[in-house]
Amino acid sequence: MRVLVVEDDPVLGQGLQSVLKQDGYAVDWVKDGESAILFMDSSEYTLVILDLGLPKLNGLEVLRHFRTAGKETPVLILTARDAVADKIAGLDAGADDYMTKPFDVDELAARARALSRRQTGRSTPVITHGDLQLDPAAHTVTQGGVVIEFSGREFSLLQALLENRGKVMSKDKLTESLYSWKDEIESNAIEVHIHHLRKKLGNNLIRTIRGVGYVIDKPE
Ligand code: CA
Repeated sequence: MRVLVVEDDPVLGQGLQSVLKQDGYAVDWVKDGESAILFMDSSEYTLVILDLGLPKLNGLEVLRHFRTAGKETPVLILTARDAVADKIAGLDAGADDYMTKPFDVDELAARARALSRRQTGRSTPVITHGDLQLDPAAHTVTQGGVVIEFSGREFSLLQALLENRGKVMSKDKLTESLYSWKDEIESNAIEVHIHHLRKKLGNNLIRTIRGVGYVIDKPE
């Protein structure tokens, strides 16, 4: 659940960053088109939020570069109000959704959730696994109907494992999805979060594959 925000307006960029962080995303924020390409080439993102009017390379050029390189990460573009031609050009260049400025941050967060969900091939908002239910919008987890409290990172880790059921997730991959490049990361951070998840959810849910990573098995 890592998002790249590409926005040269400092106030808007800051605002997007804090809203998305509250929603549990690790956020990288860059302010020009060239940095956007650099970041997109070096990290895996769940979602890219892309302003069109940018220094160095504009958003459309960034988007074309990204799609030409075969990347399928969902892209939500931000356009000036009433710029219909921009919206059409953006969608034609491979954007998945757009919002016109000024926009409501709660709506943006909801669209971000929808795009991230589609990215994982899921059409229902709530993830159900046995008696466990994780609701990304409400940020709640229940087991057998009982609410269980998690830290932001524990929640994101559980969500990442549930969204990738049946796939072994390496520590590197999990770290990349949980932390932005600015975050300071302890080398055993993922092990510590896994330990906490097991304390709260029991030892049987998450399996350790030694030397490879962690997996939640698909329900039978
Ligand atoms: Ca701009």
